[in-house]
Amino acid sequence: MTRLRLLPPSRVPSLLSNLSPISSVIRLAPLSCLALLLAVCAFAQDQPKLVRINDAISMVKTSGNVYVVNTPEGSVIIDTAIAEMAPQAKALLSPAVRGPVKYIILTHGHADHIGGISLWQETGTQVIAQRNHYEFVNYVSRLEGFFAPRNAAAFGRPPKPPGPWAGNYGARVEATIMFDEKYEFTLGGVQFQMFSTPGETPDHLTVWIPAYKAAFIGDNYSGIGVPEPNSFPNLYAIRGTKPRWALDWIKSLDTVLELKPDIVLNGHGDPIVGNAEVTRRLKRYRDAIQYVHDETVKGMNAGKDVYTLMQEIKLPASYDLTEAFGKVSWSVRGIYDGYAGFYDMNPSTMFELPPSSIYPDLVKLAGAEAVVKLAQEKIAAGKLIEALHLTDVVLATDPKNPDALNARIKALEVLRDKSENYVETGWLEYGIDKAKLQLKPAP
Ligand SMILES: [Zn+2]
Repeated sequence: MTRLRLLPPSRVPSLLSNLSPISSVIRLAPLSCLALLLAVCAFAQDQPKLVRINDAISMVKTSGNVYVVNTPEGSVIIDTAIAEMAPQAKALLSPAVRGPVKYIILTHGHADHIGGISLWQETGTQVIAQRNHYEFVNYVSRLEGFFAPRNAAAFGRPPKPPGPWAGNYGARVEATIMFDEKYEFTLGGVQFQMFSTPGETPDHLTVWIPAYKAAFIGDNYSGIGVPEPNSFPNLYAIRGTKPRWALDWIKSLDTVLELKPDIVLNGHGDPIVGNAEVTRRLKRYRDAIQYVHDETVKGMNAGKDVYTLMQEIKLPASYDLTEAFGKVSWSVRGIYDGYAGFYDMNPSTMFELPPSSIYPDLVKLAGAEAVVKLAQEKIAAGKLIEALHLTDVVLATDPKNPDALNARIKALEVLRDKSENYVETGWLEYGIDKAKLQLKPAP
C-alpha cells in the first residue's frame, strides 16, 4: 500500500481519522498539483455519498464535490471530481439527475474538479469555465516534467516519467464557453450567474443561483474541506505554484459576501448554511488573508527582508484559524516573492553560483567531524533548522557521511514531531526517507 506521506496518521488530528479512503485516493491520484488537497478532503469525509441539498440541488461528496442542479428543462453539473473517482461520483449522483445535462460548469481547473467531464457530456452539452482556465491547464501541462517528481516525492510513490512535452499550449481544453468577468444563462426558468472569482487558482469562478440564494465557490474557502476551525489558506503551495494573489482572493470573497448567500457550496467538505454563518466564516477567512498580505507589504516597505517577515508575521488568535493546511510563513514568502522576485539587494546572490558552491571549502577548513559535531550541538540546543543547514554543508562534499546523515535524520524527526502542518510534515518525512536511503550501503 502506498504510504500516505503528506498525512502520516500519527500527525492527523482526531477530526481526520479515516485512513483507508485516503490511501486509495493517494494511490490513484495522477500527477496532480491537487493531490494533497484530495488527500485531506478524503480524510474529511466518509465514503463518497449522495447528499440532497434541496429539491433541485444534490451533491456527491468525494475527492472533489460534484453537484447537480435540476431545472424543468434539464440539469446542470457543477464540477466533476478527479478522473479516477469520477465514475463512482457519476454513479452516485445519477439517480438525482432528472434531465439531460445541458451544462457542465467548472469552478476551476484543478484535476480534482475536471476529471469527469466526458462522463457527463451529452450531445450539445456546454462546458463553462472562466477565461483563465485555458492558460491554467496549459501551465500545468507545460510544466508536467517539473511537477512530476515533486508530486511523486510528496506522495511517496515512484517517479513516473512524464510523456513527451506537449508544448506550451498542448493541453486538452474541454471548456466550450469561456468568459471574462461574468456569464449567465437561464434554464427551465432558473437563472444561473457566473462570476470570475480568482483565488486558489486564477480561473476560479463562482456560480450563483439567485432563486436558491446558493453560491458554489469551488476551493476559495476551506479548500481542504476540514471542519471548523478551518485552516488559513495555502496562499503559496510549496510543491510548486505561482503565488496565489491575496488581493484577488480577498476581492473574490467580497464578491461572494455581497451576494448574501443563504448557502455556500464548497469544492470539498460540507456546505455552509445560513447567511449569518456564511458571513462569519468567509469574512474571517477574508480578513485573515488581508492581515497577512498587509503585514507583508508593510514589512517590505519598511525594508525588511523576507526571512525576517517569515519569522515576525503571526496570525492573531482572534481569527481562529489553524495552520494545518496553509502556513502563514510560506504565504508571507509567496506574497513577498510574488511581488518582488528573487533578488535581495545582496550582490553575492545575483550570480549563478549558490552559497553551497563554497560548502566543500568550509568543510576543508573546519573538517567534517567538527561541522557534524556543531550540528549535533545545535540539535541538543533545539536549533534544528541550523542543524539542517550544517548537515547540508557536510553532505555537499560527502553525500554518504553517516554521522551527518544521522544528525540530519534526528533534526528532521524532531521537526516532524513538532509540526502542525500537513504539508510540512510530509516534506519532512520525505527528507527523512531520503537521508535513510543514503545511509544504506550501495548494492
Ligand atoms: Zn479541489
